[in-house]
Amino acid sequence: MIVILKPNPNPSQLSHLKTWLESKNVSIHESVGDSHIILGLVGDTSKLDMDLISAIDIVEDVKRVQEPYKNANRKFHEEDTVIKVGNTQIGGGTLTVMAGPCSVENEEQMLSVARSVKAAGATILRGGAFKPRTSPYAFQGLGKEGIDLLKLARKETGLPIITEIMEISQLPLFDDVDIIQVGTRNMQNFNLLRELGRQEKPVMIKRGMSATYEEWLMSAEYVMASGNENVILCERGIRTFESFTRNTLDIAAIPVLKKLSHFPVIIDPSHATGKSALVPNLAMAAVAGGADGVMIEVHNDPSKAWCDGPQSLNPEAFEKMNKKLIALHSFMKTMED
Ligand code: PEP
Ligand code: MN
Repeated sequence: MIVILKPNPNPSQLSHLKTWLESKNVSIHESVGDSHIILGLVGDTSKLDMDLISAIDIVEDVKRVQEPYKNANRKFHEEDTVIKVGNTQIGGGTLTVMAGPCSVENEEQMLSVARSVKAAGATILRGGAFKPRTSPYAFQGLGKEGIDLLKLARKETGLPIITEIMEISQLPLFDDVDIIQVGTRNMQNFNLLRELGRQEKPVMIKRGMSATYEEWLMSAEYVMASGNENVILCERGIRTFESFTRNTLDIAAIPVLKKLSHFPVIIDPSHATGKSALVPNLAMAAVAGGADGVMIEVHNDPSKAWCDGPQSLNPEAFEKMNKKLIALHSFMKTMED
């Protein structure tokens, strides 16, 4: 249920209303927008008398929220969520370009990719230290050493870093990481999501490869329900009957998520296609379609990459693409209504 307040409510009436609502065993999520304050109520609201609440002086309107996701719902939080990391922000009209290798391999590779993506205008550096691989015999990532190399690359370039967590026990290693990534295979690892909700770092949740929008938003709800509001959503392609591409990029996710929720939306055309030649066009489609940014795999020598070489751009291709993305993003701003 949401309670929409009249502009500038009397503070003592507001605090009285909140105390009364809390006494009914619902928790309150207060969202202060430009024109209104919205109280989002989570819990068993079935016994709350809507007419009684509507009759209160400072209340403008009361509505039931049918969707199972509450804190993640645009109805609870009218304004876009904007996430600050380092000197940059994600959402709020900026173009976020996360770029870097699929996996961190060694110092030379990591620093070389980091320097080139920084020079080409990337805003966040990616790199996998813990790799969820289909085969137990494939390279599983450098683990802690990989995170240390990412930190070194951050020191060199000033770019904030994002990397994937696979299980709760790894969390202490993420203390000094800027954004924690939850991969497609862990989107419904509810224990992990809950734990990530108990800390404050931004969490980027990639869409489960067969997850509906609602399931995906429920994963965001898990993080928010334990107290962390810094959630980013990343569409990375879903499984369909098409096998030419690794997955099928669901561009509709952008306007749908923007309508249903308030999170920044990032598109990952690398995992969506599995083919580097297709990446620039889909990155352009993402920016034209209203995404807040993209995540792109870049390798200094894709043919020698330990993981996901075929979908990785080389630094030159990345630079060429990023110039176009930046120009397109500026053009799209002129089209805003
Ligand atoms: C990744 O971004 O490194 C990754 C493993 O992606 P996904 O979880 O989307 O497969
Ligand atoms: Mn990859």
